[in-house]
Amino acid sequence: MRSKENSYNTTYMTTSKIDFLKGFIRTIDDYPIKGVFFKDISPLLANVKAMKIASECLAQTLPAKIISSVMAIESRGFIFGSVLSIVNNASFIMIRKAAKLPPVISNVFFDSKSEYSKEKLGFNSSYLNKGIILIHDDVLATGGTVKSVVEALINQCGINSSNIYLSFLVELSFLKGKHSLLEEDIIPETHIKSLIVY
Ligand code: AMP
Repeated sequence: MRSKENSYNTTYMTTSKIDFLKGFIRTIDDYPIKGVFFKDISPLLANVKAMKIASECLAQTLPAKIISSVMAIESRGFIFGSVLSIVNNASFIMIRKAAKLPPVISNVFFDSKSEYSKEKLGFNSSYLNKGIILIHDDVLATGGTVKSVVEALINQCGINSSNIYLSFLVELSFLKGKHSLLEEDIIPETHIKSLIVY
């Protein structure tokens, strides 16, 4: 039976592919802090077949629109984010911890809060192309991190939220990240796609 959470991708993805990929994701309880069920994607990255299937399936979740820039969140977001940028002929923009971003005038900085950490993040806005922007990360947990990126794009770069799409390899639906993004009217539901939902 196809799970309800994945029903949006019925036309191009079989449940067996999602189940196959789930077999390469390890859950580590109480890591890095108590109460967190950490999803370790290292086994998936180490398996070429799983990497290929995940890359293809992720690419198929994207909107049928021309994506001009892909932004990805340090550091595991970089892995599939760069694949998605190549597939879409889009510029690739790293969202980095502030201290790791070489100083340039076009840098944009903002505070972010995830399930288990607080960071000051930033990106070089000069690499943003006009048009649709896709933000990719490995995991959508509470939604705090991606929300801070969307707000920085809207408030500091003047990007309209209708031009922003979100992509995740894994969504932890029990942490209600998508729900909180929708509740705060940050972005429309059709703009949020997760490949593997727990
Ligand atoms: P959040 O802001 O709570 O949605 O957290 C998303 C960010 O934190 C992503 O960059 C993830 O890499 C990381 N993260 C948060 N929770 C987890 C988790 N349970 N397993 C793996 N990564 C996580």
